[in-house]
Amino acid sequence: MQGQMMDFSLDTQAILRRGGQIFGNQEVVTRLTDGSYHRYTLREFERRVHRLINVLRDLGIQPGDRVGTLCWNHYRHLELYFAISSMGAVLHTLNIRLSEEQLSYIINHADDQVIFVDTSLTSVLEAVEDECPNVRNYVVLDDQGETAETSLSNQLDYETLLAAASDQATLPDLDENSAAAMCYTSGTTGNPKGVVYSHRSIYLHTMAVMTTDGYGLSQREVVLPFVPMFHANAWGLPYAALFSGCRLVLPGAQPTAAILAKIMIDQKVTTAAGVPAIWNMLYQHLKQENLSLDTVETLIVGGSAAPRAMIEKFDKEFNITILHLWGMTEMSPLGTVGRIRSHMEDWSYDEQLDIRMKQGVPAAGVEIRIQDDNGNLLPWDGKTIGELTVRGPWVASGYYNNPEASKSFTEDGWFRTGDMVTINEEGYMQIADRSKDLIKSGGEWISSVDMENCIMAYNGVAEAAVVARPDDKWDERPVAFVVSADSANPLTEEQIRTHLLETFAKWQVPGVEDVRFIDVVPKTSVGKFDKKVLRQRLEG
Ligand code: ADP
Repeated sequence: MQGQMMDFSLDTQAILRRGGQIFGNQEVVTRLTDGSYHRYTLREFERRVHRLINVLRDLGIQPGDRVGTLCWNHYRHLELYFAISSMGAVLHTLNIRLSEEQLSYIINHADDQVIFVDTSLTSVLEAVEDECPNVRNYVVLDDQGETAETSLSNQLDYETLLAAASDQATLPDLDENSAAAMCYTSGTTGNPKGVVYSHRSIYLHTMAVMTTDGYGLSQREVVLPFVPMFHANAWGLPYAALFSGCRLVLPGAQPTAAILAKIMIDQKVTTAAGVPAIWNMLYQHLKQENLSLDTVETLIVGGSAAPRAMIEKFDKEFNITILHLWGMTEMSPLGTVGRIRSHMEDWSYDEQLDIRMKQGVPAAGVEIRIQDDNGNLLPWDGKTIGELTVRGPWVASGYYNNPEASKSFTEDGWFRTGDMVTINEEGYMQIADRSKDLIKSGGEWISSVDMENCIMAYNGVAEAAVVARPDDKWDERPVAFVVSADSANPLTEEQIRTHLLETFAKWQVPGVEDVRFIDVVPKTSVGKFDKKVLRQRLEG
């Protein structure tokens, strides 16, 4: 017997409609380069999305065509998010910090037909234009308040096109399994790999993100995605904002920690999302300037492990809860959420912190398990480390046009994350390391994440990253790169070692010559510690 429910298409058009109809008076706010704010309602937003759909059609974009965006987080990028997918084309968000080689690789690999680019980023495309012959037009989004002069050929102006277009567009019926968006992993090894999201996966991911035990979004929130809109769909927040009706605040071009703090205060932000490095910078700024963020309740942290010390500092000094998530581009990106459960509420603060430091339990809809090298399932005892494999309706089932893709999946169809983790009896997952970052010394594993966490908990440390160096005797030894918070009062190697010895066995602790002070930890294009660069430095 079949169920008798409607075959209702789960697509981004439905998200757009709900935003405009139900929350038509809600605002989208963007910080402009001159420090003022652009604001308009979701009703006005929807009208502009319809204009943009007409523009895309006039540019010859057909359903299924890929359309690139090279943009900061702002309202025009949000318009592109919805117009491109709602007309049946595929939004391809380009990472503004890729090397020229990687950028031209992904533009060509995705076969982008038209690219929308911020004025301030046109030089990035000028450098690769000759390598990308299939791009028919470049549409420039004028984020500087002046018409851009660029050397890009076939250049058009966004606002001029929109002004000439009708604000009524007929939207096509969509197959919910058709492609809506794509994003390439930032490619720490090899070429970036393309992940293709469907309308259905975006819709279901949006529902999960909004749940109380997900990000807990409601119409009453004011949400600031600091995470770039080119990093795994800004973790789903652009879609969730329209679906939940919360106020979206977008930080615009070149946001710094100081700008971030100002936006949060000006716009009474309640929730913001970003990688740990940015919250670390925000923390230093708040301390230096003696500021508080009275409206902010939650900082969503993902992309890298949230250090214990960071969670504690924000709790105790600012009354702000760090919500720890784990995710991947391949997972749209939400995988797990680190919240404590009701029966833990009377635990001591430190015991609760032990839980909140973990990456958490799978979001409703995601399934997880751990496996050894031979594919055997491992126990959920909170101790046994194995590779995390996952499945769910918003997890990639392949990579776009990639012959290597099958290596990333198990024979029974689960996605191999490459993260080495434990899972405890209650389903809380904790990352020990990325498989390639684990350090093997004298036949035993050392978690670089644990060691970084420990060092960053030491007073006077701003940042720390730990990588392996090859060693004749022990195979590998850990090297700790440490940034002192106050350059006028630098820490010493022995202070770091003595602190580590309180937690780690003597053989695990780096030798004096393997504690190295640096000015700043190099970051990847999405703001994570760039261990590849640190390893290269060691080789150098
Ligand atoms: P990239 O592979 O370029 O870093 P992603 O953002 O997709 O791009 O990275 C996903 C990876 O980031 C995960 O496999 C995991 O190793 C790491 N990661 C994400 N969230 C966390 C977290 N909360 N703690 C530790 N690692 C994390």
